[in-house]
Amino acid sequence: MSKSRILIVGAGFSGAVLARELSEKLDGTIVVIDSRSHVAGNCYTERDARTGIMVHRYGAHIFHTSREDVWQYVRRFSDFGPFVNRVKASTSRGIFGLPINLLTINSFFGKRFTPSEARDFIATLGDPTITEPKNFEEQALKFVGRDLYEAFFEGYTKKQWGCDPRELSASILKRLPIRFNYDDSYFNDRYQGIPVDGYTAIIERLLKAEQIEVKLNTLWEPGMAKDYTHVIFTGPIDQFYGHCFGRLGYRTVYWDTAYERGDFQGTAVMNYPGLEVPFTRILEHKHFAPWEEHKETVVFTEFSKETSPEDVPFYPKHLAPDKALLAKYLELAKKETRTSFLGRLATYRYLDMHQIIGEALDFAPKLAEAIQHNRPRPILPVADLV
Ligand code: UDP
Repeated sequence: MSKSRILIVGAGFSGAVLARELSEKLDGTIVVIDSRSHVAGNCYTERDARTGIMVHRYGAHIFHTSREDVWQYVRRFSDFGPFVNRVKASTSRGIFGLPINLLTINSFFGKRFTPSEARDFIATLGDPTITEPKNFEEQALKFVGRDLYEAFFEGYTKKQWGCDPRELSASILKRLPIRFNYDDSYFNDRYQGIPVDGYTAIIERLLKAEQIEVKLNTLWEPGMAKDYTHVIFTGPIDQFYGHCFGRLGYRTVYWDTAYERGDFQGTAVMNYPGLEVPFTRILEHKHFAPWEEHKETVVFTEFSKETSPEDVPFYPKHLAPDKALLAKYLELAKKETRTSFLGRLATYRYLDMHQIIGEALDFAPKLAEAIQHNRPRPILPVADLV
């Protein structure tokens, strides 16, 4: 069997997990390039030089999954400290727990509902005329009604996405549970935690294999492909095709950083849903690692804006024109025989870390087999998007 030379573009979770898995399954070399000066993509964490606090440089990353194999996998590369994301929302009516749970409902409406009373009450608030919610706003109005929608979702969503919530997919709101008990964990998943020495360390360990070579500060250029058996592209799919049909819409986020003494807000994530402030949330990084002690604190105030060519793309917007554009790019992608597309940016989907790792783990054996036997590439996660 001839030795393969694989090029992976992007050293985030998709690229790193795939590199690791292919290195164990294939004979040959794997080159991982990244345009940035560091690995780990937007999961990048580092110790803040001034305080020693582990900072999530590109925003909050809380690991959560219900997939047993994914949880076992990541723990091969790091210990995870116990962390449950319990978000708070600071509104004009007070501070409440998110996701909406029984404490949120009782304190917001000044009630003492039992779980079933709360369920019945919220059902009376929902808009019964909406049968099949077609967008974010309809999804919210159907399930929680106007008061809760306006207090928690409308302003936040306008700030976060820069458009009318009626233009956005209902699936974005479906990320957030509504609970009629006092469970205030943001995620429903069975496992949750934060790596004790950060995500960057996980990615570095994933990429630490004899066959893997990492080249940072290296931009993808189409001419590179000729030197490789197969290319796995994890960057934006529109970038791969030189934006030939136009640019897909992304939101990007940025932060104002402040240092304080002591404890700034008493929790890791405080959302600000109202339009009276221009930011969406405040992150206080030391609370992501409650097992550590720090006298000072680093605070990130998070803002959202449209992505321009020099910005890091974060959130795929998926508005109607984006969907039409994506379909065109995917038509090109489907014809590729020596290039695969994997991950959040390459498949233009709003994915979490555990989903990205899961897809890379599922994809790796299929891709390895196809490369080994010189077969056309296997079906990719993008296939069902067209
Ligand atoms: N959302 C909201 N209010 C909040 C939190 C979230 O309206 O306080 C909406 C908003 O549109 C957001 C979406 O729910 O983009 C998904 O929220 P999530 O917390 O999953 O966003 P992420 O942490 O990925 O930025």
